[in-house]
Amino acid sequence: MIMAKLCIVLILIIVSTNVMADKRSVAIVIHGGAGTIVKEKMTASIESEYRQALTDAVKAGYKVLQTGGDSTQAVIAAITLMEDSPLFNAGKGSVFTHDGKNEMDASIMEGNHLEAGSVAGVSRIKNPIQLAYRIMQNSPHVILAGKGAERFAAQENIEFVDPAYFYTERRWQQLQKLLLEDAQSGKAGDQKSNYKNRHSTRLSEDAGDGFDDHKFGTVGAVALDQYGHIAAGTSTGGMTNKRFGRVGDSPIIGAGTYADDESCGISATGHGEYFIRAVVAHDICARVRYKGISLQRGADEVIMDKLVKMRGEGGVIGIDPQGNVVFSFNTKGMYRAAIDVTGTLTVAIFK
Ligand code: ASP
Repeated sequence: MIMAKLCIVLILIIVSTNVMADKRSVAIVIHGGAGTIVKEKMTASIESEYRQALTDAVKAGYKVLQTGGDSTQAVIAAITLMEDSPLFNAGKGSVFTHDGKNEMDASIMEGNHLEAGSVAGVSRIKNPIQLAYRIMQNSPHVILAGKGAERFAAQENIEFVDPAYFYTERRWQQLQKLLLEDAQSGKAGDQKSNYKNRHSTRLSEDAGDGFDDHKFGTVGAVALDQYGHIAAGTSTGGMTNKRFGRVGDSPIIGAGTYADDESCGISATGHGEYFIRAVVAHDICARVRYKGISLQRGADEVIMDKLVKMRGEGGVIGIDPQGNVVFSFNTKGMYRAAIDVTGTLTVAIFK
């Protein structure tokens, strides 16, 4: 009898430990862009501002996961904070188009039943990631663009702001610098041939701001919740000086964002045209699934090999179903942070 009772107590302890272990196995990883981010060019105070913003965002997402929220809500919480920060090229800190406007793209995907929502070219939506989520939830479509997307947003009571909200002096000066460079190199008069040359257009923060002359400031998050579901999201202002309603990889499912509970979740940042043609996010997950390789290896194969051969710059963050968190980038740095399955916080910027 005593033995039987002891056995029951033992079983209960094992079961409850497993439940607790399951509950603990949540993880989140975020990025705030990749590029030539080198310590020598960054002041200590700017570095600490970035570190603080990354820490706040990753903790906001983690809190959702810890309190039983799902991975989608965790991704939205982390990205919303980064969109509200002027530091990153998304939401408030978005870069300017050639015409001096801000046109934002964002997407979100859920790995349990491959649902996705995405928005491109919006100029008045405070938090494009929240609109992407509503498109996934409340519309029969995956991608909505421009005015139509804003009409849908109004119907959904999404928060609108005056376009002036997105003005930041730093981004404005980046555009002025590029316009001047274009004019000086005589390209302004020949927009067509200039625009055809991929390397003559500049990406998000390529214009430089004194501490960093070549980086991409898009934001993204990937999370694994206690229910075993992975979600990924990405939000961006795109490239400085972009024209003609250009859409990058961030709202393209499979390029800038992908999530599948069977393989991985990925959010990318970098030169969008390359990420689209290399179908980066999906390719990484497909390699994991079909080749049976680790997520780190799959990500490195695509970022360090495939993309490098194409001369595409950037990086990704990802999570696999076991909660392994990965970073991979072929640039000098990537703003990044994670809280892994053991609850350990990592915040890093440089290689
Ligand atoms: N991938 C983004 C785009 O091409 C830029 C970035 O990551 O900063 O629109």
